[in-house]
Amino acid sequence: MDNQPSSTEVAVIGAGPGGYAAAFLAADLGMQVTLIDPEENPGGVCLYRGCIPSKALLHVAKLLSEAEEAKNWGIEYSEPKINLDKLRSWKNTVVNKLTGGVGQLSKHRKVNYIQGRAIFSDARNLEIDDVQGKKHKLSFDYAIIGTGSRPATIPQLSLNSPRVLNSTSALEIEDIPKSLLVVGGGYIGLEMGSVYAALGSKITVVEMLSGLLPGADRDLVKVLHKRLEAKFSSIMLNTQVVEMRELKDGIKVTFEGEKVSEAEQKFEKVIVSIGRTPNSSGLGLENTHVKINDNGFIEVDEQRRTAEHTIFAIGDVAGEPMLAHKASHEGRIAAEVIAGHKVAFEARAIPAVVFTDPEVAWCGLTETEAKEQERPIEVARFPWAASGRALTMDRTDGVTKLIFDPDTEQVLGMGIAGPGAGELIAEGVLAIEMGALATDIKLSIHPHPTLSETVMESAEVLFGQATHIYRPKRG
Ligand SMILES: Cc1cc2nc3c(=O)[nH]c(=O)nc-3n(C[C@H](O)[C@H](O)[C@H](O)COP(=O)(O)OP(=O)(O)OC[C@H]3O[C@@H](n4cnc5c(N)ncnc54)[C@H](O)[C@@H]3O)c2cc1C
Repeated sequence: MDNQPSSTEVAVIGAGPGGYAAAFLAADLGMQVTLIDPEENPGGVCLYRGCIPSKALLHVAKLLSEAEEAKNWGIEYSEPKINLDKLRSWKNTVVNKLTGGVGQLSKHRKVNYIQGRAIFSDARNLEIDDVQGKKHKLSFDYAIIGTGSRPATIPQLSLNSPRVLNSTSALEIEDIPKSLLVVGGGYIGLEMGSVYAALGSKITVVEMLSGLLPGADRDLVKVLHKRLEAKFSSIMLNTQVVEMRELKDGIKVTFEGEKVSEAEQKFEKVIVSIGRTPNSSGLGLENTHVKINDNGFIEVDEQRRTAEHTIFAIGDVAGEPMLAHKASHEGRIAAEVIAGHKVAFEARAIPAVVFTDPEVAWCGLTETEAKEQERPIEVARFPWAASGRALTMDRTDGVTKLIFDPDTEQVLGMGIAGPGAGELIAEGVLAIEMGALATDIKLSIHPHPTLSETVMESAEVLFGQATHIYRPKRG
């Protein structure tokens, strides 16, 4: 650490999927780059305590639930034996392999990686506290802030107890509680609830709004809600947690809401998952002209430049949606802008995927947004009950829909609920980015039998000509 250079062309603060994507592209474009993060390797929340470990556990959850369902198809397994230590260690192996691999990529690119924390002294200089407790100064031509976000907290849910978990501690699966309350019906809560339900916990979800997954179209959420109702013990909507108290053997939770049958209930453990807060404080930004909005996000323009000419911000700290792929794309844009390329963040479609079972995914314009904007649209839906592939998987509960401009037939949005929705949605992103029309999708041959045919047939539905459903076009 003592031999650290005292200056760099590009300093990237935070090595999440935004920061490391930015650092790698800046290096590929020939710049001298320093990447700073407290972890041993790049990865950030996504690789260490977010996307990757949660998906490893959800993969196991899917396996458990398919093994259970196999009895409907003439295959019976005995009760699964769960070795939590082995499961945890497999999840950790996945994380270590990936972060180690990204660390190697960083070295190959000759990115100067500093394990530590950085704060701004001014618009050209950083002060870094490294993990060995040493301080040193680094001046930069440009800086990219990618410091991400952390779990949000509110006073009535901030009980300091080992029985109250957040997304990070929940991923450690210390044990399998008999009863588990998930506070918050967003995607992280539902994903973690699904993992614990598959492992054997009795799950209750409480959400203060009128539906799960705020932001997603209701017809897609309905498919998920129905299946979760069967897997979870209870889903309480329009309900708030007003108090939590620690008992010797659990947490006593007081609920307030329309249809609360029992206002006080006891749970062995609670996961609080009520959103995320951007990491924009404690960075010394007061020593620069960088502006932070009322929600704590750093304000950026379409090139991801802040109000300070030399400083860019990307990823969760720079605004919604707080998703890894949006962070990476922004990081790459910022690197290109610094390299002098004429580019901007102008994505027409940022996909969102909820990795529950069924998965829920959408991109581009949603029906809800169209209604809010009073924008005329045409929607074509293809129910998976008519999909041969869905039938072979015994998963006819899904739905695929396309949202079109009624005048031009241009694809504006896509939504899918069903297994594999997260993979299928990429076709929607490409269609929207390429300005595809319904006819383009209808005339593109999709492989049979696959779930991707539901996308093609949704386009056929628009013309009242879907092969596998009979629904003539009205008018
Ligand atoms: C349980 C869970 C599951 C998720 N699943 C998904 C998913 O499936 N798909 C998806 O797209 N998104 C998912 N997310 C969200 C995703 O993790 C974030 O959107 C993404 O990590 C944001 O990337 P980022 O680069 O902005 O920052 P982060 O990944 O948050 O990384 C920021 C890094 O900056 C570091 N840092 C902070 N301050 C400083 C400082 N002063 N100096 C140096 N370093 C600093 C932090 O320690 C951290 O390592 C999930 C999140 C959670 C919690």
